[in-house]
Amino acid sequence: MFSKIEALCRNCEADTTHSIISTEDNKIKDVKCDVCDSAHNYEKSIKTILQEIEKLPNYKPQKEKDKELSDPIVEYNVTKNYEIFTKIKHKKFGLGMVIEVINHKKIKVEFTDRVIMLVQNHRF
Ligand SMILES: [Zn+2]
Repeated sequence: MFSKIEALCRNCEADTTHSIISTEDNKIKDVKCDVCDSAHNYEKSIKTILQEIEKLPNYKPQKEKDKELSDPIVEYNVTKNYEIFTKIKHKKFGLGMVIEVINHKKIKVEFTDRVIMLVQNHRF
């Protein structure tokens, strides 16, 4: 009996159940699609890939992306605290977005033509 696994089948162009034909170094090598019977290299199922993407540190679900689009643009001020993906309007550089919060005092902001380090939470 072959072990079964959910994998991507290029022939079916979908996730289907596959029989594991061979393994190498404890990794799945060749599989055979139970639906169309074609044998091919194992490819992760779309479901697995999506789950992996969700685990990435920078992953944001669509809902948050939609929210981002409607987020107001904040006027840049050195004394304020900024979060990642905050849209910023800078007097000199124009519109930008916080792409990295380096630390409590520093943020990295991407403007249309450059990426600049800016100060945040500054106390005069
Ligand atoms: Zn197939």
